[in-house]
Amino acid sequence: MNEELTVSEVKKKLYYPNKMGRIVLTAMENIMGRHGVNAILNLAQLNNLVDNYPPNNLDLGFTFNEFSTIQQTIEEMYGVRGGRGLALRAGRETWKYALKEFMPVLGITDLAFRTLPLGIKIKIGLEVFAQTFNRFSDQRVRLGEDERGYLWIIEQCPICWERTSEAPCCHLAIGLLEQSLDWVSRGRRFLVQEVECVATGDETCTIIISKKPII
Ligand SMILES: [Zn+2]
Repeated sequence: MNEELTVSEVKKKLYYPNKMGRIVLTAMENIMGRHGVNAILNLAQLNNLVDNYPPNNLDLGFTFNEFSTIQQTIEEMYGVRGGRGLALRAGRETWKYALKEFMPVLGITDLAFRTLPLGIKIKIGLEVFAQTFNRFSDQRVRLGEDERGYLWIIEQCPICWERTSEAPCCHLAIGLLEQSLDWVSRGRRFLVQEVECVATGDETCTIIISKKPII
């Protein structure tokens, strides 16, 4: 059976849980309004999602194709620069819901975590976020570290899935990471930059996070 599937058919079978799809669409709605999201969904030919976001459960029902098509369409509608700004903001907004929805599932106790030293908190935080994607979705994240900073390496990235781009385009991931680090560090800012992207022909989407806060 599997042998009969073409490569693109197999690729289409990568998923986010419904809950993650719902969170991203809800966050986008907060940034660009329900009409804005509906316009994007219509243009993306994802009419099935108009006023009908995925249910709030962990079933794997939101495809990487849907996710990346939505991100691509934001760029088409608002231009590369405008789309980037909106995707960054949507990513930051996504954190609020991700925290509320996944903290209880992960069993992290806020207070115990918050009293740790900053450097340790950042490391543990990134570890927990990576595990969340690895455990609940088909997105694969591994962590690294070099002289530039901490590395957030995405191996199966839903944001740029089957897209091509001249520059790294996984802005929503940047916004989400920025906001999560803001939470972990209680308001410090870190430099978060995507230096490699599958859509530009790289092996992975690689995001560098400065080890020290910039503010
Ligand atoms: Zn990507």
